[in-house]
Amino acid sequence: MQVLLSLPEREESREFLGFALARNFWWRQLRQIRGDHLINPVNIYQMGVMSPTSMAGRALVVWDFDWSLINKDSDETLVKGIGAHHIFERLIHGGMHWNQSMDLTLLAAHDDMGVSKQDALDALMTLPLEKSTKEVIQKLALLDTCDQIILSDANYVSILSVLQQHGIEDCFMDVHTNPAEFRAGALRVSPYHKSDHGCTTLKGTACPPNMCKGKVLEGFLLENNYNMVAYVGDGQGDFCACTRLGPRDLIFARTAYPGNPPENCALLKMLKSNGAAVISDEQKSSAFFKSASTGDLQHMLAPNNRVRSERIASQVVPWSDPDELASCLTKLASGWA
Ligand SMILES: [Zn+2]
Repeated sequence: MQVLLSLPEREESREFLGFALARNFWWRQLRQIRGDHLINPVNIYQMGVMSPTSMAGRALVVWDFDWSLINKDSDETLVKGIGAHHIFERLIHGGMHWNQSMDLTLLAAHDDMGVSKQDALDALMTLPLEKSTKEVIQKLALLDTCDQIILSDANYVSILSVLQQHGIEDCFMDVHTNPAEFRAGALRVSPYHKSDHGCTTLKGTACPPNMCKGKVLEGFLLENNYNMVAYVGDGQGDFCACTRLGPRDLIFARTAYPGNPPENCALLKMLKSNGAAVISDEQKSSAFFKSASTGDLQHMLAPNNRVRSERIASQVVPWSDPDELASCLTKLASGWA
């Protein structure tokens, strides 16, 4: 049997939870309620009697798309593939936001350059999916205890093209991205948020007007309860989502983009400057991931407050290429099997 408890954030509540833990009750925090009318925030807990089956939990893997799930930028590949990169560059340098620049570039490519639907689809077919990434996605999809979603500022047509080409569209519970469709032969991209998402600036890293990944992830996590989240990302747009994660979650942040010299990724830099604990190469052992997964009882019982904070609560696992990422996720998933 399980019960839901609401406790004010006070010393007495912590004492009570410690008392319950010592008497073989497990508990986990589901959410925190704050409000002007409340003196202290109120925490909602799920509580039950400890047994091996009651400790089984669920995990969520969140995939950013560009340079995370695929080893390329899909927007750039698309506009270059249809020969419209110069239009996109002109719009971006003119100060237009990325999402709107993509839409207008694709429209101009169709109207002024005669780029057809097939031309756009052919360009998208060149997007690569690394073998190791595909294999780990398929492995995770076989686990009953794990869900996967995509959270991306690319667009639905590009993402679906890759997923279908590789037969992995059923591996994901949800795809959260900018809507896109062909209208009168032109690929058109719309913003994810139709109105102001209201995300306030975090140290000069305001989310673009079309998408706040933090808001999207927070909404998803309030509706779906997971013991642990593993977030895979690389760029500035992923930072806001990382501010919504808790101490039991893990952030897999890419270190650099391929090139000579390699260019450092923004997310890892931002996480470091906001107090995140970055694990070393030596720590990337099976034992670390085993303990980080929900297999460890003490670890699971530690509170996993997912309260928005610029100070990053989650540990960060840096990865340099898709093979290393796949290897780390495989080790982590062995604790979920
Ligand atoms: Zn945001």
